[in-house]
Amino acid sequence: MRQNEMFLLKLGEVVLKGQNRRSFEDRLVANTARRLKSCGSFQVYIRQSTIYAEPATDTCDMEAAYAAARQVFGVVSVARAVPCEKTVESIVETAKDYLADAFASARSFKVESKRADKNYPLNSIQVSQAVGGELAEAFPHIAVDVHNPDLTVHVEIREKHAYVHAPAVPGAGGLPVGMGGHAVSLLSGGLDSPVSSWMMARRGVELEMVHFVSPPYTSQQAQDKVLELAHLLTAWCGRLRVHIVPFTEIQEEIRKNCPEEYFTLIMRRFMMRLAQAIAKRAGAKALITGESLGQVASQTMMALGVTDDVTQMPVLRPLIGMDKVEIIRMSREIGAYETSILPYEDCCTVFTPRHPSTRPKVEDVRAAEAKLDVPGLMARSLEGEEWVWVKP
Ligand code: ATP
Ligand code: MG
Repeated sequence: MRQNEMFLLKLGEVVLKGQNRRSFEDRLVANTARRLKSCGSFQVYIRQSTIYAEPATDTCDMEAAYAAARQVFGVVSVARAVPCEKTVESIVETAKDYLADAFASARSFKVESKRADKNYPLNSIQVSQAVGGELAEAFPHIAVDVHNPDLTVHVEIREKHAYVHAPAVPGAGGLPVGMGGHAVSLLSGGLDSPVSSWMMARRGVELEMVHFVSPPYTSQQAQDKVLELAHLLTAWCGRLRVHIVPFTEIQEEIRKNCPEEYFTLIMRRFMMRLAQAIAKRAGAKALITGESLGQVASQTMMALGVTDDVTQMPVLRPLIGMDKVEIIRMSREIGAYETSILPYEDCCTVFTPRHPSTRPKVEDVRAAEAKLDVPGLMARSLEGEEWVWVKP
């Protein structure tokens, strides 16, 4: 590890939040600190819309911290940087040393400066010219190219120090988790729901996961797979509580008492009712699903209406307008794809109707459900509920 190396994290939309800005910043600092903890002891603080994360000991795992910082929602970019004295001489020496490898392989470079300290005697253009001039003399075989350089040397003149770094990499974007409210996300083992969960977490929503299991029709492996998906999400969201809710009796009763064409729809209505009960108890204010318009019979517009008939809180469906190809691309990007495609059955694939209704009417489905003891089935299901904390 290069001595003094640290991270500069830039805030995105957070800086636009006016009055709430302070609480956004506090939340983001707390989230960043918590996530870097597993990589060693870091000091994390914020000045002028930039988060500073400095290793407090030389045993910090800087590579792991670099990756973790890029998974914090609310951060738009991350740079590894080295602080130095706020003199041109010190900045030049630091750049020569810290970026030696980059200079060795570059054929052209430029310096880009920012002056967060408005009292500094040189403006940013003057800093770039002074530092660039000295570096050009130190590396005579490398051309200065302000339009399309191989290497851009970044200099930031901040409160106490100047910072030197190569270009920053993109962060996760979005808003800090916890600022967007608290919602229950219905997590199956499929491709869609990990992506929908991730998308809402990126909008700052704190998640509470619910997964329905139907043993013996669904296996322990299927449940473990879902816990593994939740575990992958913790890299982005921090620790997550996963409620495991038994669903076997409900599915058997539906099969025994309801018309086959409505099996899936009635099952989905039970999922929403149970998720809502869990949400109310946890103080969560919305439900999240991985549904996408027209993807399957239960995701036509009329079918979604039948599902929403039993909910009183907003149902957030971030994938509603996305194509499968886009969803798969995101699934890969967030690291869920390889786990999602493991071939274990979900309770949705148990008792699937041969000809599901795609244009169901709410009254018909309500009537088809009439034989079921809805409160009793729900109560017994919730009695068997268990939950586990999944940690990063
Ligand atoms: P996914 O890829 O997320 O499994 P899907 O395309 O298979 O979705 P469905 O099986 O109809 O579609 O499920 C729609 C949504 O219902 C899922 O995205 C998820 O939010 C929720 N869901 C389905 N099965 C379960 C389950 N066993 N536990 C919790 N939620 C579930
Ligand atoms: Mg599914």
